[in-house]
Amino acid sequence: TALGQQLRALFCALPPGESSFRTVEEVPDYVEKSIPFFITFIGLEFAVSWIQKRKLPGRINDGISSLSLGILSRLPDVLFRSIELISYIYVWNNCRLFELPWDSPWTWYLTLLGVDFAYYCFHRMSHEVNILWAAHQVHHSSEDYNLFTALRQSVVQKYTSWMFNLPMALFIPPSVFAVHLQFNLLYQFWIHTEVITKLGPLEWILNTPSHHRVHHGRNPYCIDKNYGGTLIIWDRIFGTFEAEDAKVVYGLTHPVNSFDPIMLQLRPLAHIWNTFWATPGFCNKLSVIFKGPGWGPGKPRLGLPEEIPVITGKEVPFNPYVPAYINSYALVHFAVIVDLYTELLASVSVLSQGTVLLRIGFIILSLVSFGLLMENKSKAGILEIIRCLVFIGVYKLGYFRSQFSFLGYAYEV
Ligand SMILES: [Zn+2]
Ligand SMILES: [Zn+2]
Repeated sequence: TALGQQLRALFCALPPGESSFRTVEEVPDYVEKSIPFFITFIGLEFAVSWIQKRKLPGRINDGISSLSLGILSRLPDVLFRSIELISYIYVWNNCRLFELPWDSPWTWYLTLLGVDFAYYCFHRMSHEVNILWAAHQVHHSSEDYNLFTALRQSVVQKYTSWMFNLPMALFIPPSVFAVHLQFNLLYQFWIHTEVITKLGPLEWILNTPSHHRVHHGRNPYCIDKNYGGTLIIWDRIFGTFEAEDAKVVYGLTHPVNSFDPIMLQLRPLAHIWNTFWATPGFCNKLSVIFKGPGWGPGKPRLGLPEEIPVITGKEVPFNPYVPAYINSYALVHFAVIVDLYTELLASVSVLSQGTVLLRIGFIILSLVSFGLLMENKSKAGILEIIRCLVFIGVYKLGYFRSQFSFLGYAYEV
């Protein structure tokens, strides 16, 4: 059934016979169709974590922050077609050397390997080249590790990842590529969890929750390890594999300490900018951009391992105190924004450019406001009042709609 197919797409377990298409236009939007599954799995993770350890798998503030970044990262796709596909199709149309048959299982399996290897290269570069790291670090900024973390994505990362796929455009049809690009992304959803410990022999070949926990760790033994997407074989081949050992402490070695989705994107970029101007010499300035995030004059390309902060196990995640009603308020209003966002996705083709931009602007304003509220910032209250006034005005004028018709009345106050 369609539901079973969609479920298997999440685990890269849709065989070639069910996921080969002649043209890109026929390829389903597996990612968008997975949103109900994301919600279901998150609910399951809560239940299992409660049964296993009597504790929740994460915190409200960190979870909302992750989902805000997830929504933010997909907003450009509302306006533009994905750059990954545009560039790929361009190379295919203009430079291809030969055409592998789109309906052969061999092409399907080769593309699985090709997309995963390209992901390994891109992901490793994203950790070893400072300017790419500035984009990718967003995904690592959560100090919890749960299915919300999987959705915590950078806005700009897809503008750095597309070029790694272009060699495949010389011989692999775009329709096959478009399927595996999504499968590779979707596979990485379920591995962001602590409720699955180890998976026996599967740990040899597949990227698993255990392997990816190491990737998200800031313990010195975890740094720059386990870059794989679907498969872990690339790490084993190229010497970047590390098995899970001491308890992993999650997040960045130098935490950003914010729930504001804009700040989480920009502050590390500002750090590179400041380091760039503070570092003397033209070649050194170039090295600030293109060598590792830990590099400095006189140090090896990836910095000195002894400079990575030691983990004591007593690290306290960023968790500013706010009254429970503020967190509940943020949660309820965040749910309203998720509703607006999914309604926007569903109706974007019939909306005017102006309405789309207005909705996107309001979504961004809201996510920032929730972030500041949960950080207990002094100006958060004023921003939130402005946001609510904008909401009422814009809703009255008919620029917003809910997916749930009964909310149509609730908003009419
Ligand atoms: Zn990473
Ligand atoms: Zn991850």
